[in-house]
Amino acid sequence: MYKAKAYSATSAASRLTSTTIVRRDPTETDVQIEILFCGVCHSDLHQARNEWSGFMPTVYPCVPGHEIVGRVTKVGSAVSKFKLGDLAAVGCMVDSDGTCPACKAGLEQFCQNGTFTYNLPDKHLGGVTYGGYSDSIVVDQRFVLHVPTNLDLAGAAPLLCAGITTYSPMRHWGVTKGKKVGVVGLGGLGHMGVKFAHAFGAHTVVFTTSPSKKDDALRLGADEVVLSRDANEMQKHAGSFDFILDAVAADHDINAYINMLHIDGNITLVGAPENPLPVAAFNLIMGRRSLSGSPIGGIAETQEMLDFCGQHNITADVEVIPIQKINEAYERMVKSDVKYRFSIDMASLKAE
Ligand code: NAP
Ligand code: ZN
Repeated sequence: MYKAKAYSATSAASRLTSTTIVRRDPTETDVQIEILFCGVCHSDLHQARNEWSGFMPTVYPCVPGHEIVGRVTKVGSAVSKFKLGDLAAVGCMVDSDGTCPACKAGLEQFCQNGTFTYNLPDKHLGGVTYGGYSDSIVVDQRFVLHVPTNLDLAGAAPLLCAGITTYSPMRHWGVTKGKKVGVVGLGGLGHMGVKFAHAFGAHTVVFTTSPSKKDDALRLGADEVVLSRDANEMQKHAGSFDFILDAVAADHDINAYINMLHIDGNITLVGAPENPLPVAAFNLIMGRRSLSGSPIGGIAETQEMLDFCGQHNITADVEVIPIQKINEAYERMVKSDVKYRFSIDMASLKAE
């Protein structure tokens, strides 16, 4: 075991502060990574503030962070995928049983015995897992990804959650040329959704509550932008979408978007607001529309997404911050004031 520097929350109401945590020494199949950048996901904030108490209560101290890129500093004797000095990435999962039907299908995100990168029981050390707001992490090679070397690392980090969470459902629901696709909420996830929908050739429409994001949405690849608080603009799109990705982090009216789907259209929730969202049954019934959800993606698909980003030079638009600005970053994220993902430069942790 060794000591690593980190930032943690000690209660739902506390600010994140500097701390020291214990990491395991790499086992035979482990990769030790020096973390260079870690993206700041709204899930980090939900978890640090225990906003998902009904689904996954927070165990304190909580070290968030699941958009990790860095360099390999040590490998176990049986590691074949990585060598010292390689770029490496870790997303939202660090373990799964590898034997259940979900794992065998490459859908580790649905494994009942899986381990998230933070806040789930740590099978090696006891306690819970600690995430990427830290200077290093040790992860089994099965859950470590290769980062295309042409990508900017600060912008590549958010691909590990915001990227795969939007890429996976769009692939699943057949987003491609000739389809009309909506993206609701232009935050970290939403802006990656726009980049992917555009790269897949779909006619892409952004729904935003923020008039100031209109020009950015077009620059990111949207064909049209709708201010969702403008009823007239919303009405123009009724019944016209094949697929809508809902990436909103707070209470909102999803019936307005269900009504925008075509016959057999699908709306997928990736946003995970704290409170239930009411659904009017007839909005689904009339049009045989469907409502579904989607969590991240499997490991093979995450690598496929990273490779796709390497080929198309896709990264997140990031605002790089030192770890000391993390509490301010959370406050700005709550106000939807992020363009479009904070990425922590972990070199700043050395000063602690
Ligand atoms: P984010 O950067 O804060 O973006 C959320 C966006 O939602 C905001 O930028 C804003 O966009 C919109 N929004 C915020 N409050 C709103 C309100 N009251 N009404 C309507 N729109 C509102 O968050 P994120 O990191 O992208 O995460 C989004 C959600 O996805 C979070 O709940 C997060 O936990 C969840 N998530 C899920 C998964 C998964 O596997 N399914 C993975 C990662 C994250 P506009 O300014 O454009 O309106
Ligand atoms: Zn996330």
